[in-house]
Order: sequence, then structure tokens, then C-alpha cells
Amino acid sequence: MKKICFLLITALLVLACCQSDKKEHKTTPKPQEVKDTTVVAGVYHYQFDGFELWTLQDMERGMSMDLFPDAKPADIKKLVPTGEAEAAINGFLVKKGDDYILFDAGLGIDQGGALLDKMSMLDIKPEEIRTVMLTHFHGDHIGGMLTGGKATFPNAEVYFSIEEQNAWKRDGRVQRMLDAYEGHTHPFKCGPNVVDGVDAILAPGHTPGHTMYQLGNLLIIGDLIHALALQQSHPEYCPTYDQEPQLAAKTRKEVYDYIQDHKLVVAGMHLPHSGVIEEFHAE
Ligand SMILES: [Zn+2]
Repeated sequence: MKKICFLLITALLVLACCQSDKKEHKTTPKPQEVKDTTVVAGVYHYQFDGFELWTLQDMERGMSMDLFPDAKPADIKKLVPTGEAEAAINGFLVKKGDDYILFDAGLGIDQGGALLDKMSMLDIKPEEIRTVMLTHFHGDHIGGMLTGGKATFPNAEVYFSIEEQNAWKRDGRVQRMLDAYEGHTHPFKCGPNVVDGVDAILAPGHTPGHTMYQLGNLLIIGDLIHALALQQSHPEYCPTYDQEPQLAAKTRKEVYDYIQDHKLVVAGMHLPHSGVIEEFHAE
């Protein structure tokens, strides 16, 4: 029943997109043509030109302002008066043709992550995921790659930047993940089409090999932003999670310009609600 409802919503969405398409062509084309809807709680669906995107919320988790010791108290008081910014842990699932690509795997069931539950609500099994693309190797992004010590996605080819791999060479947790996917890991040099239709863009600072992914007008920004309410207007503020704060702040400012210059839709692993911002303005 869930699947039927979901298909119905998808069909309506596609219809709605086609209709708005027709109208739009008479005037200036919109910078992005996406529609969203909540499929079930914590799952959001977007239709792009040539692919579909789902946000799979692994967990809702606020970001305490204690993570931003360098932020001016006046800015915090104005922008995040509660002292905790709304945030989440998200994975993103893209469907291109018959293939699924998963971007980051969340904390994992073992740590209370709900990403796999959200996937099963869409009737998608872990075995169907053929490609996983990782933004970086922090635990809230690769934890879900293992379940009970075994590969969660047994048929997946796993992609990540060479820089990220080099930065974590002596980390036991990362090594266990890489061992579980032995023979199916693909460290890459960032550039266009690291996987068909997916560009990888190095965005260092949060971690040395932190990587964003671009598909058409969608930019998956990984951990560029942790506390949207604070950092949207203050890219210079770094959470203590940013390993190289100066570089992270520089990267963040450059990416904000890039997003706005190209009118990109942004999907972020710690953005609240749907995890997607259709029109991003660094106000
Ligand atoms: Zn993270």
C-alpha cells in the first residue's frame, strides 16, 4: 500500500513538473525545476532533469552553539537564540535509470541511525544499491556502511577521494570499512564524471579529502554546513568538527559563491528538515 501511495505521489509529481515545464518555457526558464514532497516522515523526494533524489533522514540532531566557540555571542543570540541550531544527519539516494547511487550512509543501525528503515519504506533493499559515494570518513557518514561488522551494501562499488583515503590511513574504523568492501573500493582524483554524470569537487577543511558531488544543478555539499541558521550568513564560523578551520572557512565562502553564481540546488548532510535548499542565499 505504501508503495502504491508513493508511486501515485511520484506520478502526480512528474505530471506537476511537466505542467510547470510547459508554462515556464513561455517565459524565462527557472534556474531549477524541482518539486518536493514528504513521502513518509523523514523521507523527501525531488524530481530533477534526468534523475530523482530522495533525502533519507538518518536522525534529527540539533547542533549546539558550544560547537562554535569562536562565534560572537551577539550573532548567536540573534541567529540561534535557543543555543541549538536545527540540524539532522542525512543520506541522499539518487535514481538514474534503473541504478541507485547512495551518497553517505549515516551513523548505521548499530548507532541508532534510521537510514535503512527509510530505504525499506521506499521498498529498496540494501542489495539494490550498486554505487555508494562518500563525502568523507567521519562516523556519521560511514557508520552505516557496516552492519554487525559486515558490508551493509553487499553489491556496492564504493567511491571516495584519494585525499580522504590518505588522511585516514591509520584509522582502525575506516580500515574495517574499507576491508569489508575489499576489491570494490574506488579512490578517485576529484574531477568530472568520476561516476557517469557525477562530478566530484574537492572541498577541503572539514577533513583533508572532504568531497562534494554535483549532478546537473544539484550540489551535494557533505559537511560544508553544520548549523545552517548560524553559518548561512557567517561562513567564517567553524564548528569544532572542522579539522582545518581556516581552510574550511575559505572553502565555505568559495562554495557559497559557486552555489549562488550557478543557481544550484543544495543538499547537505546536516541541513535540517528536507536537507535540501532550492534557492540558497548567503544572507
Ligand atoms: Zn557529519
